Amino acid sequence: MEAKKIMQVSEHIWIVPPQWKYVEPTIGFIISNEGVVVIDTGNSPEHGRRALAALRTVTDQPIKYVINTHRHWDHTFGNQIFAAPIIAHTYCKDKMISNMKDDWADDQVYTWVTGFVLQHVKTLGVERFEGVRVVLPQISFSGTMRLDIGKIPLDLYYAGSGHTRDSIVVHLPSESALFLSDCVYPNPEGKIHKLAMLFPKLSQLSADTYIPGHELPYGKEKWALRADYYRELIESVKRLRRQHAAREKILEYPLDRRFKSVSGLNEKSHREMISRVLGEIRKK
Ligand SMILES: [Zn+2]
Repeated sequence: MEAKKIMQVSEHIWIVPPQWKYVEPTIGFIISNEGVVVIDTGNSPEHGRRALAALRTVTDQPIKYVINTHRHWDHTFGNQIFAAPIIAHTYCKDKMISNMKDDWADDQVYTWVTGFVLQHVKTLGVERFEGVRVVLPQISFSGTMRLDIGKIPLDLYYAGSGHTRDSIVVHLPSESALFLSDCVYPNPEGKIHKLAMLFPKLSQLSADTYIPGHELPYGKEKWALRADYYRELIESVKRLRRQHAAREKILEYPLDRRFKSVSGLNEKSHREMISRVLGEIRKK
């Protein structure tokens, strides 16, 4: 069955749904009567082009702004397709600038794609990346930023460094929705305890719909489940350490059954989380 090309999430929010098989993240569109804001641009020029074509089946409104939630290639390598100013966190822009001095330079990025991306993601064909070049954000911010499009407010918040140091989330209070992108996913660059600390913070933002980077949108229940997992993980590891439990014993601390439905969580990844939390505690 062919995946949906575009789907409506709330009155003004549409998305091109993610496909993990091809490491295609969610591409978001805020559609107003004064233009469109794009949230993330896809993993390649081809992905961006396909998303833009899907957008054009539902609106003719011009694209006013593009937001990069963080610098990862699967979220930014479609930037060149969208002719509008790109907004990102200062850390995101800085890191992209430094990447463009070598791997992501105009004359090297294609080689980087074939040598790195295509080696890790075997389902992706090289033709997706024809003519790829990295386009930098023109507008950057630190802390928070408010953006208005056709009376719809978008609040951009820095999301700490659980996933990457440069991640942001986008909150739409009038749509009761929160674009999480990848900030709720562990990543070697991030820290697990920082990830855990982010959940209570983001829970303060009013939202009925959570829109993650690599899963379909979900509601409060699924959000709370992921939040509970990280809270209990940190609490349990700390408690066992206080009880002077041996490292092997702590690593055996079981994954509660109710968390097995959380995307990306299984016995193996749970062990890795415990091990990383232990490592982070030791470094303090
Ligand atoms: Zn990412």
